[in-house]
Amino acid sequence: MASFRCRRDPCGFICLVLTYFSVFYADYVVIQYVLIPAYSGSVWCTLHASIFNVILLLLLACHSKAVFSDPGMVPLPETAIDFSDLRSQTSRMTDRGCEGWTVCSRCETYRPPRAHHCRVCQRCIRRMDHHCPWINNCVGELNQKYFIQFLFYTGMASLYSMALVVSAWVWRIRSEREGDGEKEGEETPSKHLIVAHYIILLVESILFGVFVLVIFYDQLVSIITDETPIEQMRNRLMMDRNSGGQPVHPPHTRKPKIALLREVFGRGSVLCWLFPLHSSPPSAGGISYSAVPDYDV
Ligand SMILES: [Zn+2]
Ligand SMILES: [Zn+2]
Repeated sequence: MASFRCRRDPCGFICLVLTYFSVFYADYVVIQYVLIPAYSGSVWCTLHASIFNVILLLLLACHSKAVFSDPGMVPLPETAIDFSDLRSQTSRMTDRGCEGWTVCSRCETYRPPRAHHCRVCQRCIRRMDHHCPWINNCVGELNQKYFIQFLFYTGMASLYSMALVVSAWVWRIRSEREGDGEKEGEETPSKHLIVAHYIILLVESILFGVFVLVIFYDQLVSIITDETPIEQMRNRLMMDRNSGGQPVHPPHTRKPKIALLREVFGRGSVLCWLFPLHSSPPSAGGISYSAVPDYDV
């Protein structure tokens, strides 16, 4: 399985473990130290626990899809190709409707336009956005939707847990004042533990919340401008080289924003964009991907 080549990155492994640990820790603190003490016996306890766990389940489902889906790896050629010959025949490829297709100098794959080589995966990825250690995989044409959904649910879970912790903390302070310190002696050790858990979860939620918010914004901007970060960098470099300073826009920027969003999230209802459902991969202008070009060597 080609897509499992990415799993050898130690940083990716650590980030995966950290992600799962953070999710389960947040769930533990919310149930054990926020909902049970503050909302015990109330319907709010069940309601908040259900909503929070549904968000976490969706978060984990989107994360798993982003981790285990093929980001759009360009298949390696099954037969050896004389690449020196292929490189010298660029104009001939253009004549055959393969404009923009290039040969990767690292993995020697014949790749479609907008594909880039990932040094971690050691493969070329279609419309590669970046390699993300948090999913231990590349974010590319086929899994970007799951990655953005993962960011969305992480942001929601962070906001929700922040709100729950703050409200439970306020409730605790109030009830302590009203209760005139009943059972104060026996509660003191657990009180410190509870406050420690509240602080850790708040810090975790703020850090992850701000982090995913920034990446979520960047992802949406890169979709609606139809420019991946790699393309943005390349276009900026090309602009610098052009003494005129004219912006270099690829030909695909004229598509409407909704069409660009549909290319990533699928052509179904907008409601389906919220779930990690499989959507048919976008076609690159009718050109089918092939390991070997339509080219006689
Ligand atoms: Zn490559
Ligand atoms: Zn990668």
